[in-house]
Amino acid sequence: LKVSDLVDEAYKRISEVDGDVQAFLTLNEEDARTAANAIDEKGAKPGAFISGMPIGIKDNLVTEGLKTTCSSQLLANFEPLHNATVVKKIKEQEGVVIGKLNMDEFAMGSSNENSGFQVTRNPWDLSRVPGGSSGGSAAAVAAGEVLFSLGSDTGGSIRQPASFCGVVGLKPTYGRVSRFGLVAFASSLDQIGPITRTVEDNAYLLQTISGHDDYDSTSANVDVPDFSSFLTGDIKGLKIAVPKEYLGEGVDSKIKDHVLAALKQLEALGATWEEVSLPHSKYALATYYLISSSEASANLARFDGVRYGVRAEAENLLEMYKKTRSEGFGDEVKRRIMLGTFALSSGYYDAYYKKAQQARTLIKQDFEKVFEKYDVIIGPTTPTPAFKIGENIDDPLTMYANDILTIPVNLAGVPAISVPCGLTNGLPVGLQIIGKPFDEGTIYRTAHAYE
Ligand code: GLN
Repeated sequence: LKVSDLVDEAYKRISEVDGDVQAFLTLNEEDARTAANAIDEKGAKPGAFISGMPIGIKDNLVTEGLKTTCSSQLLANFEPLHNATVVKKIKEQEGVVIGKLNMDEFAMGSSNENSGFQVTRNPWDLSRVPGGSSGGSAAAVAAGEVLFSLGSDTGGSIRQPASFCGVVGLKPTYGRVSRFGLVAFASSLDQIGPITRTVEDNAYLLQTISGHDDYDSTSANVDVPDFSSFLTGDIKGLKIAVPKEYLGEGVDSKIKDHVLAALKQLEALGATWEEVSLPHSKYALATYYLISSSEASANLARFDGVRYGVRAEAENLLEMYKKTRSEGFGDEVKRRIMLGTFALSSGYYDAYYKKAQQARTLIKQDFEKVFEKYDVIIGPTTPTPAFKIGENIDDPLTMYANDILTIPVNLAGVPAISVPCGLTNGLPVGLQIIGKPFDEGTIYRTAHAYE
């Protein structure tokens, strides 16, 4: 098998299906073919698990000389001067970067409808959303355009689209993967993670991108285990917690049935499960939107028309800032910047931002308590399967509610995966497996045994 054939196959598949799916924003064809030929000529690097594998990259990860737009008109022409640490690691391990994938603008959204360029479609049903914000990353893997992709997850943006598209997506522990070169949305929540077809592939891609990085002071200086060593199929004695809040009101009854069936299967393999409570879950959504929007309002201040991207024509500096940002940002991004600026303003800081930080601590403590007795927490990834394009776009609150089961995980900083767990009315359902901090290994063990 030649790498150049694999790469040919990826571009052929893209030319066949991407007109419908619309997952890719930019292709990296020349560079990918050069890289493929080089590997074919000299043979794969020993020990490089992903050598020669076609990989798609979410468009909020900077790639040297390859357009990086965050799906924003403001960055329509932005060509970074360096690679994100994860991209650098992938290239060192001879992964082949096929192109950049569509997303909700600056990773704000759950459907890809907030992209400034195109709406990616769910390969299972083209009238439905692929989820978001890493919708392009999940759809590209589901449609067979690439075997691997990278997404980012601030409040569910890897797991929710993985669930909607029937693929495997993991949000690592906060700090497991360097965020250097990830365009920041909410720095205390953002993590980069792998989206793949199988749990095994997922473990190999996480292995490739993990580890401490001097360029990211929040990347943790902890050992990276051999994740593949957890793929034994043995889960005898595994203790599973099932939060009652995750199977409660608002969760589709068919999705509940699928999760209960999955728990039965895990029981048959020697695991046990019990119902628990994460009592502060009800505050997660409000807490998340205050904290993430506050951080976003600060992070997005850098897009001023001077440093990056498109600059609007204007008479003076102030007008230039205003016009650049008014014309460049879409509605959802503006909504978040305004909410965040308000929440951080003096006089409101204590009532909103500080309160949210206190609630965040309570949510984190809920998880810590459960993990004193259990190895993993299991529930659905999303309350519903993929919805129709246009169905929720005019109703931000309903859209936000779709992330109710994924958001607490980011607030707590713990790792979680979504793995396919059957179909409802022909649409994929995702099973969410949440682990202790830096225990992605046990998540993979459980997911692999189940898969
Ligand atoms: N859908 C959530 C939001 O809009 C999560 C996004 C994300 O994880 N990047 O903020």
